[in-house]
Amino acid sequence: MIDEKLIERLRDIVGEEYVIWGSDDLLLYEYDGSIDRSPPGAVVLPGSAEELAACVKAAHEHDANVVPRGAGTGLSGGAVPLHDSVVLPVTRLNRVLEVDVENRVAIVEPGLVNIELSEAVAQYGLYYAPDPSSQRACTIGGNVAENAGGPHCLALGVTTNHVLGVEVVLADGEKVWLGGTSRDTFGFDLRGAFIGSEGTLGIVTKVAVRLMRKPEAVLTMLAAFRSLDDASQSVSDIIGAGMVPSAIEMMDRVTIDACEPVYHPGYPDDAEAVLIVELDGLRETVDEHGQRVREICRANNSSEIREAEDDEKRAELWATRKGAIGAFGTIAPNYYLVDGVVPRTKLRDVMRQVREIGEELGLTIGNVFHAGDGNLHPCILFDGRDRAQVRRVIECGERILEACINAGGALSGEHGIGIEKQAYMPLVFTEADMAAMAMLRPAFGAGERFNPGKVFPGGAVHGSAYGISEEAFRATGPGGLQAV
Ligand SMILES: Cc1cc2nc3c(=O)[nH]c(=O)nc-3n(C[C@H](O)[C@H](O)[C@H](O)COP(=O)(O)OP(=O)(O)OC[C@H]3O[C@@H](n4cnc5c(N)ncnc54)[C@H](O)[C@@H]3O)c2cc1C
Repeated sequence: MIDEKLIERLRDIVGEEYVIWGSDDLLLYEYDGSIDRSPPGAVVLPGSAEELAACVKAAHEHDANVVPRGAGTGLSGGAVPLHDSVVLPVTRLNRVLEVDVENRVAIVEPGLVNIELSEAVAQYGLYYAPDPSSQRACTIGGNVAENAGGPHCLALGVTTNHVLGVEVVLADGEKVWLGGTSRDTFGFDLRGAFIGSEGTLGIVTKVAVRLMRKPEAVLTMLAAFRSLDDASQSVSDIIGAGMVPSAIEMMDRVTIDACEPVYHPGYPDDAEAVLIVELDGLRETVDEHGQRVREICRANNSSEIREAEDDEKRAELWATRKGAIGAFGTIAPNYYLVDGVVPRTKLRDVMRQVREIGEELGLTIGNVFHAGDGNLHPCILFDGRDRAQVRRVIECGERILEACINAGGALSGEHGIGIEKQAYMPLVFTEADMAAMAMLRPAFGAGERFNPGKVFPGGAVHGSAYGISEEAFRATGPGGLQAV
């Protein structure tokens, strides 16, 4: 229970209307895009970095836990508050503060919605490269905390490659800059250590980002295949041929069926998978690579290749891809999106395993993912009112992640660990590895007060909102995955 004196202090800092406490409005902040849920103790919405720092200081002095929050689109439970925490959404801090066109740098507040940054700098022929599919909702601060990726991160890299520096509020309310506003910095890379720390070290209040110049030419192609194997092989072959397209995304039949009634993309009826391949750069290179991509797709039995001739058609093509996850609502009331990575050469084998695991457990899985990065996103579709089904869903997620690891891959491509994957951390990290990571918390002065119960094993039980007990969780997974 949050101390009433703290609530009074927080009201003094931000004003009464921006403190939510003891009302049903708290329900809005008990979840994110994952399947985990937990109620906040209070929610405070600061209107400036100074107010935010004063709130953190007050919470610190009252020994209260603090959970930073952006738009709540996270898919691993990162913003789900555990242990009666005070949730601090940064959504009122949403301005572009500075654009330095000559040096291609912008300084923005953390609550700025991702796509609004590119919209704001488009007038200068610039854009911000990391583009999560959730970019119409997610915030730049949330992107920093999760080291977010996106369809166009294949050639240009993820958030950490585009953030020069961050201003953060530490546990005692002090504000510090990590990194800088130019490309060259010296000393320890604390910026790098902070990016991807999932709100466990401090709260981002300003972000200095690199901006990119819009390319001279862009070619967007959609290739349809009658088999997932052929589509997967094309991905390996395109990269193997020495090209790095700006994006290679894949959607399977289940996803196509979900999208068709919503976006009417008119994909071929017999397509088991479609690839979106985008190339950009100098006109000559784009033309030459475009021809090679066509040849590779045809050699892998592509049944149809379409090209977006103008920006409008390109936007339509991407709208289907970026809206695909929402379209799963046409098939089932709930989804659980798994986020594993595999070496590209293992894509075909692991996709087969994903299908087999789904069939064995009687679950429908839609696949829509960043194929060029080998970053799988199997979406397990289910009905959360059916508790027995939820248990199979969690088992399915575990087995898919285990398949990714066994193939030489990683636990997360971009959605973070949060609550969802903490029990699986020992699959890839030793006790010593995790202890080294945990030492960052005291080094930043955060202790256990910032986003408690996240990332490290033993903090929370994934699925507990659906009645999954720790014992039941331990029992799932024939591969012997164990919650700690
Ligand atoms: C439909 C859909 C598609 C998606 N596609 C992608 C994709 O293509 N690529 C991708 O990477 N992700 C994707 N995501 C996941 C999600 O959008 C990203 O992880 C995003 O970065 C989260 O941003 P957010 O503002 O919603 O953060 P939240 O969900 O609010 O928070 C996420 C984490 O960041 C911390 N945090 C938030 N703000 C701050 C701050 N200012 N300072 C410190 N910590 C903070 C929180 O404590 C939490 O741990 C998708 C999600 C959905 C629902």
